[in-house]
Amino acid sequence: MLPVDNHVHTVWSYDGSGTATMARCCEQAVAVGLPAVAFTEHLEFTDGDDGDQVAGFTTDARWWGRIKPLDVTGYLADIAECRERFPSLRILSGIEAGESHLFAASASRVVHGNDFDRVLGSLHAVPYEGKLIAADALFGLMPDDEAMRYYFTELIRLIEGSDLFQVLAHLDFPRRYWPKGAHLFAEAPLEEEYRAVLRALAKTGRVLEINTKTPLASVDMVRWWREEGGTAVSFGSDAHWPQRVGDRFKLAIDVVEQAGFRPGKDPFDFWRA
Ligand SMILES: [Zn+2]
Ligand SMILES: [Zn+2]
Repeated sequence: MLPVDNHVHTVWSYDGSGTATMARCCEQAVAVGLPAVAFTEHLEFTDGDDGDQVAGFTTDARWWGRIKPLDVTGYLADIAECRERFPSLRILSGIEAGESHLFAASASRVVHGNDFDRVLGSLHAVPYEGKLIAADALFGLMPDDEAMRYYFTELIRLIEGSDLFQVLAHLDFPRRYWPKGAHLFAEAPLEEEYRAVLRALAKTGRVLEINTKTPLASVDMVRWWREEGGTAVSFGSDAHWPQRVGDRFKLAIDVVEQAGFRPGKDPFDFWRA
């Protein structure tokens, strides 16, 4: 049995494809044989509120200009409708909270004001010289490996500074934009930096996501997670259009199994060491 796809976006996300209706994603999940799917729409903010650390930052239009606030009410109504329409599929509600250490007050209001089944934590943007900039913009500002180190340093701040999320999504997000080509990115030279992130996450007892949109994690990296005390992994396609729901899960299962993780007794649970 395939694991749950714990990371799917639909039209409710600001960057979801127009064809990515929740119903079409459910149809795809059923077609590929997933037992369950979690709709984890982006929770990002265009402005800092009282109590948000980001309040003093200036805005970078390239990043902030794209974001739209999440319509939680409409999203939850769609979830309820799909649960009626697809009774054989377990449909989990969720959110992908971006930079929740910088938007602690704003993000907390949404997360604690609702009862989401899954809360993912992400770092898509990083503070740089008083601005919040898209993480991939770091590559233009410093050597490539330094950009990854800069990202990992901020990621530890997110892990240690926010307990709002349960699963850390795409821990090495900027590798997707590795200037020489995403397929050429190597984890090994950054082993110490990876381990520092994984150690911080394991200390808080949370879950590492194996993201199948990003070039796939190596067996070595998932082993580092175990060695640093990690006990659970979550599978996430990070699909933004229906055809990608559950994408590359067989490959990801191979990696995760070789690193020593197995399905839990409950098929809807995370995989465990
Ligand atoms: Zn993301
Ligand atoms: Zn995502």
